[in-house]
Amino acid sequence: MTTAGAPLTLFNSLSRAIEPFQPIDPKMVRLYSCGPTVYSTAHLGNLRAYVFTDTLRRTLNWKGYATTHVINITDVGHLTSDADAGDDKMELAAQKAGTTIWDIAARYTQLFKADLKALGIIDPAIWSVATDHIQDMIAFADVLEKQGAAYEIEGGLYFDVTKVPDYGRLARSAMDGPEVARIDAVEGKRHPADFAIWRRSPEGEQRQMEWLSPWGPGAPGWHLECSVMSLKYLGEQFDIHTGGIDHREIHHCNEIAQNQAYNGTAKTGANIWMHNNFLVDRTGKMSKSKGGVATLGALTARGVHPLAYRLLCLGAHYRSELEFSLEAVAAALTRLKRLAIAVAALKAEATLDPATLRPSQETGYGKGAPFDWQRRTLEAGLSDEALAFVTRFDEALSADLMTPQALPVLDAVIASALSADEKLRLIADFDLALGLGLLDLDRRALSVRPEEATLTDAEVDALLDERQQARAAKDFAAADAARDRLKAAGVDIMDGDALRWEWRPLLDDA
Ligand code: AMP
Ligand code: ZN
Repeated sequence: MTTAGAPLTLFNSLSRAIEPFQPIDPKMVRLYSCGPTVYSTAHLGNLRAYVFTDTLRRTLNWKGYATTHVINITDVGHLTSDADAGDDKMELAAQKAGTTIWDIAARYTQLFKADLKALGIIDPAIWSVATDHIQDMIAFADVLEKQGAAYEIEGGLYFDVTKVPDYGRLARSAMDGPEVARIDAVEGKRHPADFAIWRRSPEGEQRQMEWLSPWGPGAPGWHLECSVMSLKYLGEQFDIHTGGIDHREIHHCNEIAQNQAYNGTAKTGANIWMHNNFLVDRTGKMSKSKGGVATLGALTARGVHPLAYRLLCLGAHYRSELEFSLEAVAAALTRLKRLAIAVAALKAEATLDPATLRPSQETGYGKGAPFDWQRRTLEAGLSDEALAFVTRFDEALSADLMTPQALPVLDAVIASALSADEKLRLIADFDLALGLGLLDLDRRALSVRPEEATLTDAEVDALLDERQQARAAKDFAAADAARDRLKAAGVDIMDGDALRWEWRPLLDDA
């Protein structure tokens, strides 16, 4: 394993500071990411969380660390409010759709995984599904109760936050502060911040999803699953835990409290807690409950390639808010197309064997192996000028994943005086961390046909020929008329581009 290069530093939400990264086991970095609640299609904000996680995991692999990555699938327990109030999101969605929770979970898990694939996100080593771990959760909750960290009331088993010394440290919220005061009251709760570990089904009512437990039939509280599954797959104390910044306030505080009560105060679960900031739109934070069109599928329907969204995310630092707009994602698409054109030109010019640019299969790319072998192959024999770009790229990524500074290094490589061979090797090398699939970006594939497009490809070609002939005959009025008809149908003409034309993403908010 080589971990040479710039020292990796990461922002730890626990200390609110950038810290040098020190793995617990240098041979294997253990990483847990809070996964989706699979009651509806993930929105683009949710997907930002996984582009961030993937960038973190790729960076670790790029820097020579092996990783074990776990993402959970929440298919039970997440209520409409993060703080234990309201209905179970899964139950509600199943009722609305007139189907079972299992159907809802299967459908949205599959859609979620397809979105991740389209975004170039590498599968975690382990997908852990909450409902596969109910008995583990009951056993864990039992220990909490026996240790006096939990008490039983009418509503079920509740965690007593006064039993851990520094509850809420991650959120920096005072136990009697306004955030805690806002949490809905539950009959019998001792402290407003106490939270459900096990939700007993109300007398005479059967939930669609319920299990027997020492506290009666019911379902686990949402926070329990992440403590239980991270412990099971990654151990008492692992390296990094990720999630969106909303989780910093309640969910992760509660996870930490459970971990401490179970494993001892020093065992918070993860050494480093990392949180991505929100994707927002002009009206505020994106959320599933808002509805609207902010899904990856809706973007594709408008003619935007999914990887343009990945590039948009990488263009902002994960800890900054990112404002989403169709204009912004269309600009990212244009940037991606320029990269694709540049790579195609370099491939045409290069002398190297393209097979040497994809040295990925051999080393368990998807299983969390470090990218050492790939990097060694790609960087072997590079000139000092080329290696200087590697250093710049490394420094940017190593500074708490500064992707907005890493991307310009890619542009600088393309604009440099290096040979086409060296440029391609560097692009392939950087793409291991960026995950944009730069070597395989096909110009035609990036030109996604919007769902509302009316012309067929053959009709577009016919109009282009018509325009060409009119121009040859110096009938400029006819040539312009053909161009205008194409434009009105959402087709951009690109004189000088090998593609000749392409679909224009629909930007109106109709
Ligand atoms: P959920 O499916 O609601 O459990 O959320 C999945 C992930 O998306 C969590 O890590 C959330 O913190 C994150 N998330 C939710 N909304 C946003 C948003 N607007 N921007 C970025 N991340 C978000
Ligand atoms: Zn979680």
